[in-house]
Amino acid sequence: MTEIQLVARPNGVPTADLFAFVDTEPPEVQPGTALVANLYLSVDPYMRECMDDIWELNSPLEGRALGRVLESRTPEYKVGDIVFHGNGWRTHALVTPGESRLIKEEAGVPLSAHLGILGGTGLSAYVALGRVSKLQPGETIFISAAAGGVGTAAGRLAKLFGAGRVIGSTGSRGKAEHLVSEVGFDAAFCYRDGPIVDSLAKAAPDGIDVYLDNVGGEHLAAAIDILKQRGRIAWCGAVSSYNHEAPVAPRNLFDIVGKELRLEGFLVRENLDARPELYDRLIPELQAGRVVSDETIVTGFDGMVEAFLAMLRGENRGKMIVRL
Ligand code: NAP
Repeated sequence: MTEIQLVARPNGVPTADLFAFVDTEPPEVQPGTALVANLYLSVDPYMRECMDDIWELNSPLEGRALGRVLESRTPEYKVGDIVFHGNGWRTHALVTPGESRLIKEEAGVPLSAHLGILGGTGLSAYVALGRVSKLQPGETIFISAAAGGVGTAAGRLAKLFGAGRVIGSTGSRGKAEHLVSEVGFDAAFCYRDGPIVDSLAKAAPDGIDVYLDNVGGEHLAAAIDILKQRGRIAWCGAVSSYNHEAPVAPRNLFDIVGKELRLEGFLVRENLDARPELYDRLIPELQAGRVVSDETIVTGFDGMVEAFLAMLRGENRGKMIVRL
């Protein structure tokens, strides 16, 4: 069994030498536990913040993962079951039923979707639209980091919610074109092409009703400028600041008062009770092929660190996932 450890803390943009691949002895399967071989591992932006002070050095790292049970000493799991758990960044993991859950394999639903549109990623998008901003049919929504995991899931869900116009921003023209041609966005722009506020005004000549913020900083300021009176902001993340390169707070925060906007942050982990609704809504759509889980899959445990760094650089389309 091999695990990846953090061996030093980053200063700005992280690099591969901050991580080490460490071979370890397989853990003993104690009563109440099961040993799984990990099949899929998730890399996520929040992990960049964990590198600063949350993850311990020279210790196993956490991260969402899907594994197949190899050996079980708990009645909840049998050999061959698929289990979702938080012991990622390693080839094998010891899990307990209290800290993991069984994944039901369904025809027409790729397993990796449980780390993508059916996982915390899709749930974040669902909560942003359904619970926080309460997106209504016919409304215009702007989504930043639109070509990523949460962004693509939000774009697809916005269409299911009946949004009138779905606009996205992303880091390259190729990804912007992909959003329109493959993911179903009505308009998308590259935020590097000019002032974000100008690109957004052009894409949303009548303004926007809802902004799903994955980025913070200048994206948030632009959205505040273009939002209609009494518009809503669901604040999901601030990836532009995770490497400490940019301020999170927008220059025009006080316009929230004059425009009577509502800005609400949320944590997906506090909204796990919405998962059954997400499954009910999406599994039939996935099975019918009307919705797909947008994913970039990197093959091989050796590629885990590079997949994480590439995700931070924006090289993913949809959710970045590593397949072992
Ligand atoms: P993701 O969007 O798949 O990957 C991160 C993306 O961020 C990259 O693909 C890159 O795409 C973009 N990015 C990187 N640096 C940027 C910058 N300086 N400015 C603008 N965009 C930048 O990741 P995700 O998992 O779906 O997460 C998206 C956001 O949601 C993150 O902020 C994350 O922290 C947040 N989140 C929050 C919760 C919650 O509970 N609140 C849960 C899940 C995720 P480009 O090519 O477009 O730059």
